[in-house]
Amino acid sequence: MNSVLKKIIDAIFPARCSLCEQYTSSIDEFESLCNTCFESIPIKTGFSCSVCNKRIPTISNICHKKNYLLISACDYNDKRVQKIIHCFKYKNLYPLSAPLSRLLLSSMASVITEFPIFLSETYLVPIPLSRKRLYERGFNQSEYIAKEIIKYLPELELHTTILKRIKHTPQQARSHSREERKQSIQYVFSAKQAYKRKNILLIDDVFTTGATIEDAVRALKEVGYNRIIVATIAKT
Ligand SMILES: [Zn+2]
Ligand SMILES: [Zn+2]
Repeated sequence: MNSVLKKIIDAIFPARCSLCEQYTSSIDEFESLCNTCFESIPIKTGFSCSVCNKRIPTISNICHKKNYLLISACDYNDKRVQKIIHCFKYKNLYPLSAPLSRLLLSSMASVITEFPIFLSETYLVPIPLSRKRLYERGFNQSEYIAKEIIKYLPELELHTTILKRIKHTPQQARSHSREERKQSIQYVFSAKQAYKRKNILLIDDVFTTGATIEDAVRALKEVGYNRIIVATIAKT
């Protein structure tokens, strides 16, 4: 866009930070989050244990072995993180996919160093929504994150049809026990083999019970994928 026109539009519609609600200035990198708020969010590096939440600096330190590795950039119990993700998912603030992906990329940096050839052998796969949920929300938040990540890691190959959600699961009621919730997310996904690459980097926004991720990993493993790394913006 022509810079004069951009200045005029900025003057009429100044962007507000979705966290502190101050107008963000033109020197702020992200449209819907000011630099001060962005820099205030603590980022976890390396892997997280999906069972006990312990930090795992390298894969030789794994405490609870699972058939996938988990990277989770932020703590979902942090109110700021909750608010940004909520604005992104439910207030349709798509530009927030940029800072959210940057948090995830910072968190992934040490993992990428540990597996240098991982990128060229890996499909980047966003967790799909059911058709009903996609219709209600209008977009798949994980796909937006994946599209940002591929800009920085072009050796990956984005693939949105490997994993399919074959069953719609209603929004989880809080009254349901953890066990009931886990049972309602079984055989929700099906996967297909794409022959060029053997690993998967699976993207989701928030890791809660892990039931959704575990069912997706089951489907991917069943068709023969080798290493699966799950990367989420936040974990409860
Ligand atoms: Zn702010
Ligand atoms: Zn553990």
